[in-house]
Amino acid sequence: MNPDRTARPAEPSSAIHLKGRTIPLAAGESVLEGLERAGIEAPSGCRAGTCCKCMLQGEDPPAMSQRSLRPTLRAQGFFLACQAYPIGTLELSSGEAPEPIDTVIQSVEAVAPDVARILLRPEDSFAFRPGQYLDVLHPSGALRSYSIASLPSDQVLELHVRRIANGLVSSWIHEQNEGQRVQIRGPFGQCFHVADDEQKRLLLVGAGTGLAPLLGIARDALEQGHKGSIKLVHGGLQPDRLYMRPQLSELAETWPNLEVEHCVLREATEQEHEGPLDQVAIRLAGSLENTRAFLCGDAEIVRLLQRSLFLAGISSAEMFADPFSPASP
Ligand SMILES: Cc1cc2nc3c(=O)[nH]c(=O)nc-3n(C[C@H](O)[C@H](O)[C@H](O)COP(=O)(O)OP(=O)(O)OC[C@H]3O[C@@H](n4cnc5c(N)ncnc54)[C@H](O)[C@@H]3O)c2cc1C
Repeated sequence: MNPDRTARPAEPSSAIHLKGRTIPLAAGESVLEGLERAGIEAPSGCRAGTCCKCMLQGEDPPAMSQRSLRPTLRAQGFFLACQAYPIGTLELSSGEAPEPIDTVIQSVEAVAPDVARILLRPEDSFAFRPGQYLDVLHPSGALRSYSIASLPSDQVLELHVRRIANGLVSSWIHEQNEGQRVQIRGPFGQCFHVADDEQKRLLLVGAGTGLAPLLGIARDALEQGHKGSIKLVHGGLQPDRLYMRPQLSELAETWPNLEVEHCVLREATEQEHEGPLDQVAIRLAGSLENTRAFLCGDAEIVRLLQRSLFLAGISSAEMFADPFSPASP
């Protein structure tokens, strides 16, 4: 029971709607209390908006029930059920995994010795935020995640897939041809741009195919009118591992607030900075004041970036990361 409820004015006809069932809420009753009264199992903990165990997803939840959540969660309709006192009917998400949909391969283009840029045309509606990821379904039933580099307005899903030696799904998708069908499921993930402060500096750092979500996030921010500086640092072992440089240069020429930098661990030419990606990124960023960071790619490198950027002054609330962890066997 919320301690404030006696002070809360009675709200007209509040209800929640879940899987075809409407549950009316009594005056001053939270969504969590309403679910429990209706006999619907709902996880909960502190009931004070702190532990977040009662987090649910819905359509336009009350702003008060979202205020302690990260902006990406707010943008996806997540809220704390113990803090939610809706006015009108709040539609709750069923929490079920999205159904797979068919896509048709538009192209598979080699952009580096081991990386293909794959364009998929969805045959059904597929709403996503650039930078989120989807699961590709292999005919064996295996699922692998790949990040989305394109914008919804592109009408195709752009993936950058690195072929892993003996890798089941990455090798298979590299060998697919134009016109073949691939099933996908999603989208998933919290690593995307939210236009809550157009002056914020954005620092995007990624290794290898970590470029895919970063490209999507950078383009999305620019298209949404972001005014603050956007610095994208793409890292790789050596220069030939850095791909799509012409496209990145073209993007940086089009948008004056976007800067693209390249970083390698060895054999740098005058086109790249040499050194560990975390140190180079921090040096190139200059000031980290009012900065939001997006970190993507190899899981170990992402962990290193998170640690180094935190120590350099970026709070964990302003860090959005997608570590590309291998699928469990
Ligand atoms: C959120 C998320 C987003 C991702 N986005 C992308 C993306 O945009 N582009 C992309 O290329 N990949 C991405 N990945 C990784 C991808 O999901 C697969 O793990 C990868 O393609 C390998 O799958 P596979 O079936 O080819 O290899 P598997 O059959 O799963 O593995 C074969 C062998 O290779 C090893 N292995 C797997 N991955 C690696 C690796 N990276 N380095 C060395 N050995 C490895 C495995 O441990 C295993 O021994 C992402 C992963 C996650 C979790």
